[in-house]
Amino acid sequence: MKPLVSIGKAPDYGVSSLKQIIYDCVNNIGGFGAIVGRSDKVLLKPNLLRSANPQQAAVTHPAFVEAVASLIIDHGAKVSLGDSPPLGNLNKVLSKSGYDDFMRNMDIKPCPFTKRRSLDCSDGRVYRRLDLAEEVFEFDKVINLPKVKTHCQMGLTLAVKNLFGVVVGTDKASWHLRAGKNIDDFATVLVQIFEQIRPAISIVDGILGMEGNGPNSGKPRFIGLVAAGRDPVALNTVIATLLDFPIEALRTSIIGEQMGLGITDLSRIEVIGDELNEFPLTDFERPKSMSMAWNLSYCNPVRRFLENHIITKPAIDTFVCQNCGVCMSHCPPGAIYVKNGATKIDRRKCISCFCCHELCGNNAVKIVEPYLGRLLSSASR
Ligand code: SF4
Ligand code: SF4
Repeated sequence: MKPLVSIGKAPDYGVSSLKQIIYDCVNNIGGFGAIVGRSDKVLLKPNLLRSANPQQAAVTHPAFVEAVASLIIDHGAKVSLGDSPPLGNLNKVLSKSGYDDFMRNMDIKPCPFTKRRSLDCSDGRVYRRLDLAEEVFEFDKVINLPKVKTHCQMGLTLAVKNLFGVVVGTDKASWHLRAGKNIDDFATVLVQIFEQIRPAISIVDGILGMEGNGPNSGKPRFIGLVAAGRDPVALNTVIATLLDFPIEALRTSIIGEQMGLGITDLSRIEVIGDELNEFPLTDFERPKSMSMAWNLSYCNPVRRFLENHIITKPAIDTFVCQNCGVCMSHCPPGAIYVKNGATKIDRRKCISCFCCHELCGNNAVKIVEPYLGRLLSSASR
């Protein structure tokens, strides 16, 4: 049987209309009744990258999460909400991102991820052990609520990447460090994490998405979509296609398919729901880092050439930088340093994970694209 991906169009974040749209979307693929038991303990996992006004599109919109929570509570299940934001504690991020009111009104408890459970993945997987948030395993079901956003390192952050949040706090940096510059290695980590959590369903907030250099400081872009599916690779493939985004560049999908997580072949995916005549969005802005080579396992001179002339890099704008130290304390290989009062990046150590770009609250980390890289990326569209 083909995996089902359900798409609904949503004009805004009005909770009552959104609730109906999400209900219809999930109903197309079997309904909540098929995935959540009436007395289940359900964990919602939105994207809570940082404290952000929802209009910046950096987090899953609180109205979207409220609508999903309300549907699950109507169904009879008990709902909690968890994440491990890379910056700031969960309660603070929830409060500053507009989640407080509906969570209080609906008696939804926040579930910060603080403890670790060590999981044995030695059954033929690349990474033989994963330490993930213990709290996640205390629930009967996980519902994955990603946001449609570009991502400087991974292309797009959708259903698979969203579960990187179940890696507790600063453990995230150690995974970036282990994968180094090899995007496929990092995609493999993300796929393995998804395999361990296996959310019951992913429901994607693609109403106000983010284009350009996401996932933190890209440009909000109205897309007007809700998408749901149980095969995360098929779901991501359909969304990427609607955004005119090359599937080859979505390494979590390519690696996910190789590892048996799902399907990227559109002819083998059944898409149901609203008509999508205005898609694909051919002007959806990709991250500049799309011109980068996906794997840098070349010999040194070739690699040096690529790094100097093609691959995008982070660069700190010293006029904007506040020297707050956040990027320095989160840079996985310790490539950021202060010299003469200015924060700088040591290119030889940088692994292009773009964590500094993702975490800078002052938008001081720019994505620099060399001339040849610019030429190649414009030729590829
Ligand atoms: S996080 Fe941003 S503002 Fe803070 S030191 Fe780094 S570049 Fe500068
Ligand atoms: S400088 Fe930025 S992109 Fe480079 S390794 Fe550090 S955090 Fe990652």
